[in-house]
Amino acid sequence: MNVVLFGPPGAGKGTQAKELSSYYDIPHISTGDILRANVKQGTELGKKAEHYMNRGELVPDEVLIGIIKNRLAEPDCKKGYLLDGYPRTIPQAEALDGILEEIGMPLDVVLNIDVPDEELVGRLSGRYMCECGESYHVRFNPPQNEGVCDSCGGQLYQREDDREEVIRQRLESYKNKTQPLIDYYANKNLVVHINGEKDINSVFDDIRVVLDKYLN
Ligand code: ADP
Ligand code: AMP
Repeated sequence: MNVVLFGPPGAGKGTQAKELSSYYDIPHISTGDILRANVKQGTELGKKAEHYMNRGELVPDEVLIGIIKNRLAEPDCKKGYLLDGYPRTIPQAEALDGILEEIGMPLDVVLNIDVPDEELVGRLSGRYMCECGESYHVRFNPPQNEGVCDSCGGQLYQREDDREEVIRQRLESYKNKTQPLIDYYANKNLVVHINGEKDINSVFDDIRVVLDKYLN
């Protein structure tokens, strides 16, 4: 199945994608994770992206289009894909249409995870991450032992861009540049809305009801 997980920063895309990826056995492709790995390794790409990311701005389209084109060409995507954090602009969505046509894997569905603004700031400022890809929340999804990942025992950390002033800028970028994509995909009849205010397990169950329809 070929899926875009859509929604504002903090909607729960990464949390759901991790579970869905293992449940359906298809790759979770997060452009944010790919960029952060490049920043950490100090690659040319990472050096270029870091400046934008730390300010909560979008990294230029041509950089992202190159990343996603390469990633979708990898063999594991033959089974399908779960895109998280891409596309974020109209040019990115148009480029994606072209890439998907070339590889013959058109989108099945765009899941728009709806969460009101006032909830997003609280979710992002309480988020803790692990290098292994797990994410937690101090109140909504705490680890068993404070500061330690349940899954791998790694030390949890807060993302650089999960500071309140950067969060505000990320939400602004979302409103101005990313939200218009809902109409772009609604015009193609691809959007299904998911209530992201429910607890994590209920959101997962609601998404499964939708995605089970696309199992081959
Ligand atoms: P995104 O990938 O969309 O930016 P995340 O999946 O990282 O968002 O979730 C943001 C924060 O909110 C994390 O700390 C996560 O544990 C928490 N979270 C995710 N889904 C829910 C939910 N349904 N209810 C409460 N908190 C949630
Ligand atoms: P995320 O992990 O999805 O919250 O993304 C973190 C940051 O990476 C964003 O605030 C952007 O700076 C950058 N980023 C991730 N994906 C994209 C994208 N598709 N287009 C532009 N910038 C992106």
